[in-house]
Amino acid sequence: MREFLNKTADLNRSIVSDDFEKTLEIINKRIPLKIFSYPSGKLCFDWEIPKKWVIRGAYIKDESGKKIVDFKDSPLHVVTGSLPINKRMSREELLKKVYVSEKYPETIPYVFKFYELDWGFCMTKKQKDSLKGNFFDVAIDSEYVNGNLLVGEHIIKGESDKSIVLLSHIDHPGQVNDGLAGAAVMIRLAEMLKGTKPALTLRFQFLSERIGSIAYLSQHYKQKDKILGGIFCEMPGTPKYPMVLQYSRNKSARLDRAAKYVLEKTGKKIGFGECFRHVANDDAFYNSPGVDIPCISLSRSKPLVEGDWYHFPYYHTSGDNIKNFDFKQAEEYLEILKEIISIIDKDRIITRNYVGVPHLSRHKLWIDWRLFPKSSRGIYRLLEELDNGVSIFDLSEKCGVDFEEAYEFIKKMEKSKLVKLSLIKSI
Ligand SMILES: [Zn+2]
Repeated sequence: MREFLNKTADLNRSIVSDDFEKTLEIINKRIPLKIFSYPSGKLCFDWEIPKKWVIRGAYIKDESGKKIVDFKDSPLHVVTGSLPINKRMSREELLKKVYVSEKYPETIPYVFKFYELDWGFCMTKKQKDSLKGNFFDVAIDSEYVNGNLLVGEHIIKGESDKSIVLLSHIDHPGQVNDGLAGAAVMIRLAEMLKGTKPALTLRFQFLSERIGSIAYLSQHYKQKDKILGGIFCEMPGTPKYPMVLQYSRNKSARLDRAAKYVLEKTGKKIGFGECFRHVANDDAFYNSPGVDIPCISLSRSKPLVEGDWYHFPYYHTSGDNIKNFDFKQAEEYLEILKEIISIIDKDRIITRNYVGVPHLSRHKLWIDWRLFPKSSRGIYRLLEELDNGVSIFDLSEKCGVDFEEAYEFIKKMEKSKLVKLSLIKSI
């Protein structure tokens, strides 16, 4: 994870940009990607693909010609999407276009204006205070050109063409935990699953926040029923913060329940958020009317509160960097994500081949209740509720039996031809 973040953190990854493409190239070296390309101006549902923002440099020079702020030092120094400018201006005029973080004045805030056609500079409070003198030379060498919005997809082909999508956005120049680190976790997971043949196809998508999902789904709308559900991965490395599950719109989806089960099993504090109400990103689009694909979001974040938009300390500032990123937290996130995927992938719909209760001893499935009272009780609970159409996970959840235990037992029943198992059709 560290290696990937070191290579990509400081890139100027705006939604349609050369550095976004470069980030995909870096990912592609780790896990092969198929690139989907959507040209500027293309209408995708109600959205239009924006032009590519090109920036070659930017600075503010004081009267003596000294550079106070230079884009070379951080991509966050310029408002993302800024129009070009090359002008000598008064201090008063310049200050109208200067942004600082009130909450973290020692950092450079992330400000973006994609659709407002404006320009501006972002800096630390100290840098703003150092803007002394009567005039400044201000230059932003940027332009908007036709380009392509890109979506990178890594596929692990399953037995079925029905899929689960894992999503992370890789835009957000110069930041780590917001977006990019979700991709870092997904890359690790894809590498761990390399060479396996899951039941469901896994699609790992790396995109520009929201517009990437909008573009992809608008062009794959006819196949949308093949996407059973999604997991949006972000903010995995917030120090000290608990894991938060933001539910899909259909809170009772198997994916929601499996995620809740895995999180609760950790025995640690967990947060829950309602759909659209917690971090709401690409998942919001997946869950929206007409798309209707259940998509949960996993993060370490706090809910948005009016007047305090900080999901985690240093959110949308240069303080969201590798130094403030907790890799241990991200590793734990990865393990949780892996387990959720594993449950969904192992889950099967059960059909009985017997009536009533099977004779366990005859099939060598009986467990001595005097030696293993808990396992024995669990098995009898499973048999009490085991009926046609129920899934292994549903059954384990209803009976309060650990999923792995239930899975192992049902697989043995399948071997003994007591049940037939088929792939789940929805999550
Ligand atoms: Zn963000």
